[in-house]
Amino acid sequence: MSLNAAPQWVFSSEQGQANYKAACRRYPAQCIVDLKALRDNMARLVEICGGPDSGTAVMGVVKADAYGHGLIPAALAALAGGATWLGTAQAHEALALRAAGIGPDRCRILTWMYSGLEVPFDELIAADVDVSVGSLAGIARVSEAARRVGRPARVHVKCDTGFGRNGFTPAAFDEAIKALREEQSLGLIQIIGQWSHLAVADAPNVPEFVKSTDTQIAVFDEFTDRMRAAGIAPQIRHLANTAATLSRPKIHYELTRPGIGLYGYEPDPAMGTPQRYHLKPAMTLQAQLGTVKDVEAGHGISYGRTYLTPQNTSTAIVPLGYADGIHRSASGFDMEGAKHVEKLGGPVRIMTKQGPKLERVSGRVCMDQFILDLHGSAAAMGVEEGDTVVLFGPGRGEAVCEPTADDWARAAETISYEIFTCLRNRIPRLYLNAAEVLPPEDLALLDPASIL
Ligand SMILES: *Cc1c(COP(=O)(O)O)cnc(C)c1O
Repeated sequence: MSLNAAPQWVFSSEQGQANYKAACRRYPAQCIVDLKALRDNMARLVEICGGPDSGTAVMGVVKADAYGHGLIPAALAALAGGATWLGTAQAHEALALRAAGIGPDRCRILTWMYSGLEVPFDELIAADVDVSVGSLAGIARVSEAARRVGRPARVHVKCDTGFGRNGFTPAAFDEAIKALREEQSLGLIQIIGQWSHLAVADAPNVPEFVKSTDTQIAVFDEFTDRMRAAGIAPQIRHLANTAATLSRPKIHYELTRPGIGLYGYEPDPAMGTPQRYHLKPAMTLQAQLGTVKDVEAGHGISYGRTYLTPQNTSTAIVPLGYADGIHRSASGFDMEGAKHVEKLGGPVRIMTKQGPKLERVSGRVCMDQFILDLHGSAAAMGVEEGDTVVLFGPGRGEAVCEPTADDWARAAETISYEIFTCLRNRIPRLYLNAAEVLPPEDLALLDPASIL
């Protein structure tokens, strides 16, 4: 008998089931993304921003392969949920969206990262992608590209309101305004937006951080005033990431830019659980167990002997390691040299004859695998090689012991964002509810083998 700790997947068709089986044969682990959850999360974010007619549009931030969920499927699900903008960090991501057929008739796309001389501004302008400018060199390059392409660039002016990353500082803004006005009067740029990014909007319980966000907002509004006074008023102001979208309706302005909320997570557990905001984590990471065997008490587990089995027990191999993006910092220790310590590893849901059970990474995470101490006899639990286990999923309540990416983030001392974005392409992304969420012409843009 093989026990399955994964949810009972509902496949759209026999082909979907065949795709699932093929993925399980080919890879020892699978990343399953529920497009319905993505669509519903976006619909929820649109509702939080007052609905489609509120004057506030919502951008689905799909940078970094949609936080590891898959750029095109996630973007299409976001559009199905009511996003009218998509945001990417790198230019090639924006170009890939347009190349896939997501045209300007369907949504605006903004991209914001570039460096140095080799910037494909001309391709971006030709593809009708909005670009960010935050330096004088950037303004010059965008304008040169617009001249070459023969069409004005749509730009969003990035303001550093206190984040200390990209954008013009208040002190440098007079010069920027001068350059922007000049290029606008030459017809080389259209000033579409004004934007900035918040540093600590995810810490609503820390008074000094709330104050610092208030200051960033005040500085943002001063930038707007200066643009208005110079006759280059932005049509679209945007400042809110997920944290501010959820908690600061006053700064939704004309556009919000949620990323992590689209994927079903709150930005920081200090803000509460995703359920509190009616968001549902879209990704499940599952794997099939390798070798399951009995070992004696005091058996060293993995490199460095940082875990010694406290009792006679069984162990199981999970075929995912740091080469797949499982954080080595999510290792679990009970020993440091000769000293006893307790450092909890990342959690894994296994299924036993007695019901679901949570076990943790025991010893160091290796390149391709890690080990679970099952804390008991595998035979008595009915746990066998080939059983499907779940590293994280939507977190279906205490009773089913399903960990979330937040639990892995705690074990690895990081944030859920890094848990998803580190997952490498050695793990296939498979999509649930694709046919339910996407119109046929969108469905045709997905890799057919990825549809469950
Ligand atoms: C990533 C990013 C976002 C989205 O942030 P979340 O915390 O995931 O909502 C918004 N704006 C910018 C500039 C970003 O880089």
